[in-house]
Amino acid sequence: MSQKLRIGIVGCGGKMGRMLIEEILSSSGLTLAGGVDGAPAIVGQDLGVLAGRPPIGIAASADSAALVANSDVLIDFTIPAATVELAGLTSRQGKALIIGTTGLDQKQAEAIHRAAETIPIVWAPNFSLGLNILLGLVKQSAAMLGAEYDIEILEMHHRQKIDAPSGTALGLGKAAAEGRGVELDRIWVKTRDGYTGARETGSIGFATLRGGDVVGDHTVMFAAKGERLELSHKAGDRAIFARGAVRAAAWVHGKPPGLYGMNDVLGLR
Ligand code: NAD
Repeated sequence: MSQKLRIGIVGCGGKMGRMLIEEILSSSGLTLAGGVDGAPAIVGQDLGVLAGRPPIGIAASADSAALVANSDVLIDFTIPAATVELAGLTSRQGKALIIGTTGLDQKQAEAIHRAAETIPIVWAPNFSLGLNILLGLVKQSAAMLGAEYDIEILEMHHRQKIDAPSGTALGLGKAAAEGRGVELDRIWVKTRDGYTGARETGSIGFATLRGGDVVGDHTVMFAAKGERLELSHKAGDRAIFARGAVRAAAWVHGKPPGLYGMNDVLGLR
């Protein structure tokens, strides 16, 4: 029997799912256990073909429970409802889980926290190395710059993105709020429209742009009278997220139950 780590992909027909297939097939030491997708047009398609390769003889399925049984670690890039369902399945079967899906509401997030009491889960709004370095820089800058520096976060993504602000933008906001020693959800301004009045001191504002095929651009601004510090990250290729998620899968296998972040995987804590 193979000793290689068996990774199952949930959402294998999506933009990220296809990248993950490619990343696993091109990594030695890893086995692609299979893939599931919720779209009937994807089910039955060969996973190699989905990734733009010759067929590999494994078809995308709709049976998540069977994939979980057949995998050591599951990687999920889908939609929030599917992620919550998968967290239940993996925790019942004692399998580790990597979550890339964004846009979970509070109740859905609580379900992930509950699952992490029985299995190890890495949950990150962004799996790229550069962005995770940026999170640390933002926290540090927010701690160093006083409340006279207004914090605004600007993000742009492709036209098909369905949640806003992006999970990464909210993660950057959380890092800035932590740097200031405050809770993000007490000070965030996620949208502005109409007669808003003047900007409230100490708030963290978000602005969302959507268009074209932008993979993910994020800028955190610290704006004061007379100067502005801008920290930016631009993702040009989804492969960076797939590489990070697969690295997290290799890292999480065998870890004790708990909720981990990409900073744990990268040793950035
Ligand atoms: P996508 O729409 O291209 O793919 C999502 C896939 O999930 C689709 O193929 C869809 O059919 C499938 N799906 C939906 N319901 C399902 C179910 N119940 N079971 C199995 N599969 C199901 O989207 P995408 O661009 O690949 O992004 C997916 C998610 O990942 C989004 O939430 C996005 O914001 C997030 N994302 C995170 C990172 C990160 O680094 N954390 C990077 C990119 C995207």
